Amino acid sequence: MTVAVFAMLITRGTVVRQSDCSSPSSAWSSRRWRFGVGAYDGAVATTLGIVWNPSKGDKGELASAAVAAFDRAGVAAEFLWFETTKDDPGQGPAAAALAAGCDTIVAAGGDGTVRAVAEKLAGTGVSVGIVPQGTGNLLARNLEIPIADPRAAFHRVATASPRSVDMGWVEIDTAVGTRKHGFVVMAGFGVDARMLNETDDELKAKIGWMAYAEAMGRALTASELVDFTLSVNGATAARVKAHTMLIGNCGTIQGGMRILPDARPDDGVLDVLMVSAAGVGEWLGALKTIAWDNGLKRLFAGGADAESTDFAEYLTVTELGVELAEPQPFEIDGDEVGDVRGFSVTVQPGALSLR
Ligand SMILES: [Mg+2]
Repeated sequence: MTVAVFAMLITRGTVVRQSDCSSPSSAWSSRRWRFGVGAYDGAVATTLGIVWNPSKGDKGELASAAVAAFDRAGVAAEFLWFETTKDDPGQGPAAAALAAGCDTIVAAGGDGTVRAVAEKLAGTGVSVGIVPQGTGNLLARNLEIPIADPRAAFHRVATASPRSVDMGWVEIDTAVGTRKHGFVVMAGFGVDARMLNETDDELKAKIGWMAYAEAMGRALTASELVDFTLSVNGATAARVKAHTMLIGNCGTIQGGMRILPDARPDDGVLDVLMVSAAGVGEWLGALKTIAWDNGLKRLFAGGADAESTDFAEYLTVTELGVELAEPQPFEIDGDEVGDVRGFSVTVQPGALSLR
């Protein structure tokens, strides 16, 4: 496919240079292509680093889509490729793309790739683009970036004005020490994390988000209330019980369910949902609050801020700390990160410049 794309460029008479990449990024970047499109006057408008996950998409298809999209947009671009690996889901490749001087870095992969690239680019001022691959694509769905259409997603990268997006940071306390991660969509424990634990990978590959719905049924029956202390925005910690806590930068989860109705990725605060329903009856009540009263009903009828009930409580925070009585499986942007004993969360307003 690479050859085919290059041949296509030659046919169009637009290639001005192709050379081996000799930058410090050579561990990830196999080739450097420089080409112009449209009325080429010798200037490259953008140097695009593409951090791509080879297990989620074909490079040849991505390259064809990128070339076609930038061609259509009339933007002269240079593309550099940085491959992720199992051991390095994107932080290293993103750092290499930064070192190579890319002014926009595209995460072409699933939520794991997007999160890893975002962690590296937060606060740098270098633009981030997303070309969704895989099954989840939560940030892309929340920001209405085209899914399963790399050409449309690249076209957006070529033409959209940068938008400031916040990023959450969570420091987790695990049995083997503390680790800090960024998140762009949602982090937490409880039903959502358990859903991911119980979601069959093969099923996920076959039927996508419906696999999550199947897992939700099993997760609901396994939920137990957890004791923990909660401190919000630096206030004294309170003792609470819940079985689910989600801290979100964006509000929509798998299956298009808008679980945090007031979450905005650019308002400088994180939205929190704590669910403490126990038993089927309370669960149905909590789900009604989350999915209907604060979701569809408000969408049609409008309304003020999300309403809390006894079983589903909404908060907005800039800082949050939790100490759990029992370790819980924790999730960050759809990735399981193991059991945690506690965690602290902060927000970095306007951390990302997203195209
Ligand atoms: Mg927000």
